[in-house]
Formats: sequence, structure tokens, C-alpha cells
Amino acid sequence: MSGTFARETVMRAWLRAAARCECKRTTHGHSGRCNRLLVWSNRGRDSSSGWEADSRDNRSDTSLSNCEILCWECHSHIFNSISSRSSTRSASAHRI
Ligand SMILES: [Zn+2]
Ligand SMILES: [Zn+2]
Repeated sequence: MSGTFARETVMRAWLRAAARCECKRTTHGHSGRCNRLLVWSNRGRDSSSGWEADSRDNRSDTSLSNCEILCWECHSHIFNSISSRSSTRSASAHRI
């Protein structure tokens, strides 16, 4: 789960992100970076300006470079795709 980053790391990532979603995933419908404007006090909230600090890849890496500021929508996208992938295992048998 999230929340493994130190508060200082999250604050630095937040400043780096300029209070905007850093997501660049191509499967979310936003072109390029998401850039949704976020509100600091809405961390962990399911709202249009809600957000969470997620790991880019390695969940055990709590450094600033692995900390990604994501709006709630992108954060949910990633968690939904993880859970739906495991429930549709038969489809993944056909992957290259
Ligand atoms: Zn986003
Ligand atoms: Zn996204």
C-alpha cells in the first residue's frame, strides 16, 4: 500500500510536481503528463483534487526518485488495472 514515503520525501515530490499529477501513463486517456491540479490537504481523498504518493516501480524503494505524485483518478486507474489483471488470468495466457 501507499504511505511508505517519509513526509519530507512526499513534500519534496509535491514541490517537484508543482502540485500537479505527475502521471505519464499512456493508458489513462490524458496525453503526455496528466497535470491535474491537486490540493495538498486532499491527500488520500476521493475527490477531483485528491491525490496519493505512489511508487514508480519498486515498492520497497522510498527515495524521492521513486515517489510519484498521482491524482486520485490515475491512482485508482493503476490499482484497478492491477486487480482486474489478476482476475482475468486466462487472457494473459495469450500474451506474447
Ligand atoms: Zn492524473
Ligand atoms: Zn494517469
